[in-house]
Amino acid sequence: MTTTPERTARRPLVLELHEGDRTMAGLLGGKGAGLAEMSRLGLPVPPGFIVTTEACRAWLSGGGEPDGLWEQIEAAMLDLEQRSGLRFGDPDAPLLVSVRSGARFSMPGMMETVLDVGMTDSVAAALVDRGEDRFAWDSYRRLVQMYGRTVLGVDGTLFDEQLTRLRQETGAATDAELDAAALERLTGVFRRIFQERTGEDLPQDPREQLRRAVVAVFASWNGERARLYRAHEGIPDDLGTAVNVVQMVFGNRGDRSGSGVCFTRDPVSGAPGVFGDYLPNAQGEDVVSGSRSPMDLSELGRREPALHEELSVHLRTLEQHYRDLCDVEFTVERGRLWILQTRLGKRSPAAAFRIAVELVDEGVIDLDEALTRVDGTQLQTLLHPTFTTEEGLTPLAHGLAASPGAAYGQLVFDSATAMAWTALGRQVVLARPETSPDDFGGLLAARAVITSRGGLTSHAAVVARGLGRTCVTGVEGLLVDPVARMATLPGGVSLPEGIVVSVDGTRGEVYAGQRDIEPSPVSTAISQGVSHSPDRTVRAVLTLLAHADLRRQLGVMANAETPEEARAARCFGAEGIGLCRTEHMLLGARRVLVERLVTDDDREGALAEIEALALTEFTALLEAMEGLPVVVRLLDPPMHEFLPDLVELSVTAALADERGTLDAALERRLSTTRRWHESNPMLGLRGVRLLTVLPQVIDAQVRALVEATITLRAAGHDVRPELMVPLVADVAELTAARERMEGIVADVASAHDTSLHLPIGVMVELPRAALTAAALAEHADFFSFGTNDLTQTTWGMSRDDAEANFLAAYREAGILATDPFKTLDEAGVGALVELAARDGRRARPGLGLGACGEHAGDPASIGFFARTGLDYLSCSPPRIPVVRLEAGRQAVLLAGAATSDTR
Ligand code: PEP
Ligand code: MG
Repeated sequence: MTTTPERTARRPLVLELHEGDRTMAGLLGGKGAGLAEMSRLGLPVPPGFIVTTEACRAWLSGGGEPDGLWEQIEAAMLDLEQRSGLRFGDPDAPLLVSVRSGARFSMPGMMETVLDVGMTDSVAAALVDRGEDRFAWDSYRRLVQMYGRTVLGVDGTLFDEQLTRLRQETGAATDAELDAAALERLTGVFRRIFQERTGEDLPQDPREQLRRAVVAVFASWNGERARLYRAHEGIPDDLGTAVNVVQMVFGNRGDRSGSGVCFTRDPVSGAPGVFGDYLPNAQGEDVVSGSRSPMDLSELGRREPALHEELSVHLRTLEQHYRDLCDVEFTVERGRLWILQTRLGKRSPAAAFRIAVELVDEGVIDLDEALTRVDGTQLQTLLHPTFTTEEGLTPLAHGLAASPGAAYGQLVFDSATAMAWTALGRQVVLARPETSPDDFGGLLAARAVITSRGGLTSHAAVVARGLGRTCVTGVEGLLVDPVARMATLPGGVSLPEGIVVSVDGTRGEVYAGQRDIEPSPVSTAISQGVSHSPDRTVRAVLTLLAHADLRRQLGVMANAETPEEARAARCFGAEGIGLCRTEHMLLGARRVLVERLVTDDDREGALAEIEALALTEFTALLEAMEGLPVVVRLLDPPMHEFLPDLVELSVTAALADERGTLDAALERRLSTTRRWHESNPMLGLRGVRLLTVLPQVIDAQVRALVEATITLRAAGHDVRPELMVPLVADVAELTAARERMEGIVADVASAHDTSLHLPIGVMVELPRAALTAAALAEHADFFSFGTNDLTQTTWGMSRDDAEANFLAAYREAGILATDPFKTLDEAGVGALVELAARDGRRARPGLGLGACGEHAGDPASIGFFARTGLDYLSCSPPRIPVVRLEAGRQAVLLAGAATSDTR
């Protein structure tokens, strides 16, 4: 295409492949940028052009087709005709094109594609005349099918049913076995379905086909599964998709033709060596959909060694150029190789670690870059347990190990049931003949996925790996009947809906019943503190964790109360306890102590017991964390969690009254419960408010901590306790509590003829605390952001009820992309954290800053805490490795951003 000055001077609506490169994914989409880059590298890419995301955004904004779009497409088509030596709609030398979506971020299978655009009755007739009848009808039926479904919204299953029926009637095991006559018949049937459903026939003007296909691809950006996928992946809704219009090359043109998908390394294990699937006499979507089981790429090597070698050379070129695992789609047309797509390959979490570290070993990237190639979420999935090895256990079925992991659940056969049962709190395993993008909701909901058809690059395999779901594809002999809600296996084994099965995605096996599960080797290695492992993935995780520790600015502490938890946290690399929730020491049978605490006539006894208990527990905890800080938070018991349920107790009392068995003790219990009952317990008598109403609690807890400290230090232990005041809203609450605490510390210390300094911090977990941070900082040695309560009170949403009552509806309505109780809401809650951090540090330079809400352990929130300059994060013990890794990664990313800012 000759680039007219007008076109480039105006908005770039259409670009030819050689006009773009890999850096232009925003404008050309990932697929388009990849094609452009490959053309630049001289790889055999068919000629084509790209309708930009700019054009799509203009269309999506409701203004219709942007001015000049069709003129630019026409010009680009003329150029494409020249380059290919073919002509659009010309029966003698027909040019057919593919019209494919391609957004900036990969959204595999979530949007639409129309292939074989340009096929018409006269083109088909001419091909038949030239003896290419099978190819003509196979291409034609594909166009009718895809155009009907994508452009005109005909239900795709109507076509699929006819295809299945035709295979049954003709005895063909696969589509490739259907002959020309059968495919001609099928094309006719498809066209009748098309006409009945839409009232129109397939346009015979190829330009009209193209125009409507491009618009349909634009529209698919807002299709339901695309929106769902974006919401899950956090991809913004306003990017739009590019449309790639490329000359068709045909893998369905006989036995020396075929299509394949391959990776420059194994995307499941990360092992080096080319890896992939190839289907002879087929088009690309046949490989990806899993509708026929493909052969291993090595088989192509045996059949066509020169071609295999050529492919291998291109794969090496791509991996060296991109310095990472590449995923490549290719087609062979009558012995000639064409590369149709490349992108960075999706990989399992295990492969991500292994590949990153092996690229370092190979001198391709450095450790900093390797750290940015993995993330905390991936590590989290590797810490998942695996099945306990059980001798003699026979699998029900074998398949391909498509995505590693161990999971069990009740078998379901459709995505709707998978989602519905999961919402009821059940664990499900989704079994499908093969999955399609419509199954995304089911893949997301299920613990594991099994399919009877499809290879390691099938839709199910690719999506499950990305999501970290356990997946086995191509399960031999499995027949799934979603209508009868039943699956069968060879030998007459039947598996009805609801039966429990276990799925081993690492070995590719399915077992009857629920199997025992054991900790992951990665988690075991980290907690045992080993520094080397023969297992490549374990070794890679240990290497990158060690590097993350060198790079991270954030300290990593644990939320823990018991010595067992503390020891586990230490093994995982915790650098102290950032939050000891002392009310957790009063759970179970000890709950009654809180009840007695608030009952006037038994308070002294309860306080004495609480103090004695605290002494024992603090002593054990401090000892377990010897040499490291332990932040003890004063009592913060939401009353409704500790007192009896008022309704239940009232009923019990009423029944007792009726029977004449109501005694004084029950009456007193009822009156205490009534007295302390709260309508909004999460906004009630908690934290510093309880300590203000019953300051003796401060005395008991602080005395116990100081006694434990003095005794342990006297015995030579290096113990480092700190104190923290919860739920403070006003500085006067803090100063009163602090004065009382310091008085007790001084009294106990002087009774032991010693002196003691305990740092005293405040939890910033109410908006008012954040807004008055400067005043609080005058009286606090550190702030710890309690983002659970801060989220609850900033949003005014109950942290206990919001998820069950309305958050799902909010996500569905697109109001919230994520759960704010899981991933920090940077715009609102984050703004308060930033404000408090800034004002606090201004008032007291050197003020310690940490966070201890659930968000501190959420990989997606850690970047925010790193950017805000916190000193430490405190999370539950199992998440410590995740936080260490993510904190290191964020430090590298931040340093990179800082360097590029100063350039
Ligand atoms: C918080 O509110 O974030 C917090 C850590 O305290 P808790 O969860 O115990 O209320
Ligand atoms: Mg709290």
